Amino acid sequence: MHQRTAGILSVGDELILGQTLDTNSRWLAQRLVDVGIMPLIHVTVPDTLEAQRDTLRSLASRVDVVVCSGGLGPTADDLTREALAGAMGTSLELDPVSLSQVEAWFVSRGRQMAPINRVQAMIPGGARAIPNLNGTAPGIHGAVGGCEVFCLPGPPREMMPMFESHVLPRLRPDPAAAITTRTIHTFGIGESDLAQRLGDLMNRDARPTVGTTASGGVVSIRIRLQGEAASEESARVLHECESRARAAAGVYAFGSGDETLASCIVRLLQETGSTVGTVESCTGGGLGAILTQVAGSSMVYAGGFTTYSNELKTRLAGVPESMFATGGPGAVSGACALALARGGVERLGVHHALAITGVAGPGGGSKEKPVGTVWISRASRDGTSDTRRFLFSGDRAFIRDLAAKSALAMLRLRLVGADAPLLREAERFTP
Ligand code: AMP
Ligand code: MG
Repeated sequence: MHQRTAGILSVGDELILGQTLDTNSRWLAQRLVDVGIMPLIHVTVPDTLEAQRDTLRSLASRVDVVVCSGGLGPTADDLTREALAGAMGTSLELDPVSLSQVEAWFVSRGRQMAPINRVQAMIPGGARAIPNLNGTAPGIHGAVGGCEVFCLPGPPREMMPMFESHVLPRLRPDPAAAITTRTIHTFGIGESDLAQRLGDLMNRDARPTVGTTASGGVVSIRIRLQGEAASEESARVLHECESRARAAAGVYAFGSGDETLASCIVRLLQETGSTVGTVESCTGGGLGAILTQVAGSSMVYAGGFTTYSNELKTRLAGVPESMFATGGPGAVSGACALALARGGVERLGVHHALAITGVAGPGGGSKEKPVGTVWISRASRDGTSDTRRFLFSGDRAFIRDLAAKSALAMLRLRLVGADAPLLREAERFTP
C-alpha cells in the first residue's frame, strides 16, 4: 500500500518575521493525518515570487499533495497565483466565473469591487478555481508534475471551510492509511516518571506508538495507530493500549481528548451533585476564571472571594487577625490556607472550597518562603480537609497557573476518593 504524502506551505512575510503565528500548518497537518495522508514537510516562505515558485517545485518533486495557504490577497505582495503559474509552466488567465463570484461578494455587502480585486480572479492556465464562501480570494487547484497543489487563502476562517468543503473530498481519503490518535491527559506527575510507568509501551517500534508531551503542567500520553480505524483489529489494539496506558498513569490520568482539568472537575461535581467555591490570594481569581471557562460550570461553581489583602482575608473569609500578627503563621502558611478554605465552605455555602495563598514573584520571596511557595487547601462541608505546600518554579504566570491547576487536582483527588502526592508538593499541613 502506498502511503500518500503531503507538503504544507505557508506564505507570508508576517509569518517569516514572527509577527503572526502559523496556525494554518498545524491545523492542516492534523486534518491530513486524520484522513491518512502523511505530512512529510512544513515550509514557510516570504512573499517573494522566486521563493514561492522554487519551493512549490521542490515540494512537488517529493510529495503527492501540496497544501499552500496565504498570498492570495489582491495586493502586490500576494504572489501565490503567479508562483503557481510559474511552477506549472503556464501563465495567468482570467477566470470569468471567479470574477463574477468576487464581484457578487462585494455586491452582497453593499460595496463596490475595487479594480485591484480583479487580479484575484486570475488563475494559472490548466488550473481550477475553488470558490470562497467566506471572503474574496478564490482558492486554486492545480498540478505540478504529478503532484496535486491546493492554494488556499491565509485567513484561517476562510482557509478552514474551503479545505473542508473543496479540498478534502478531492483527496480521496484512504481509510486503511488513516491514523487514529488517542490522548490521555495527566496532571501531578512528571514526564519522566510517567514515561517510566509506561515502560515498554513507549518502545519506538511498538504498535500503536505511544509518546508523551507536556504543556502547562499537563502531561499527555499520545497513542497513535496507523490502519483502518473501523477495523476490529485496530479497535482492539487501540483499546488495549489505551487501557494499559491509563492503568500505568493511575490516579494521575484525569481525562482524554478535549477534556481539561476544569472540565473534569465540573463533570465530577455534576455527577455527585456538589458545589465548589474559591478563595484566592496569589492567583487573584485565576482559579475561578478557569472553572468558568467550562460551559455548564454555573451548575457547580458558586463563585468565590478574591482576598489579596490580609484585611479581606479576615473580612471575607473570617481568617483570625492573629494569623497575621508578628510571630504568627502569616498569610503564606498552611494554617492560613486552611482557614481560608474553611471560611469559604461556610461563607460561600458550598460543599467544597479551594483556597490558594502564596508567593508568585518575582519579588516578595524570603529564605523561608521563596518565590514559588504556594499553600493550597481543600476543605469540605463534611469536615475533611487537605492542605499542602508546593514549591513551583517558573515565572509569575506559570506559578499562578500551576497553583490553580494543582488546586483543581486536589479537589479531583477528593472527588475520586484517592490520595496521592502531586508534582512539586513539598509538605502537608495538619491542624
Ligand atoms: P493572505 O492575504 O492570503 O496572504 O492572508 C492574509 C492573512 O491571513 C494574514 O494577515 C494572516 O493574518 C492570515 N494568515 C496567513 N497565513 C497564515 C497562517 N499560516 N496561519 C495563520 N494565519 C495566517
Ligand atoms: Mg499574505
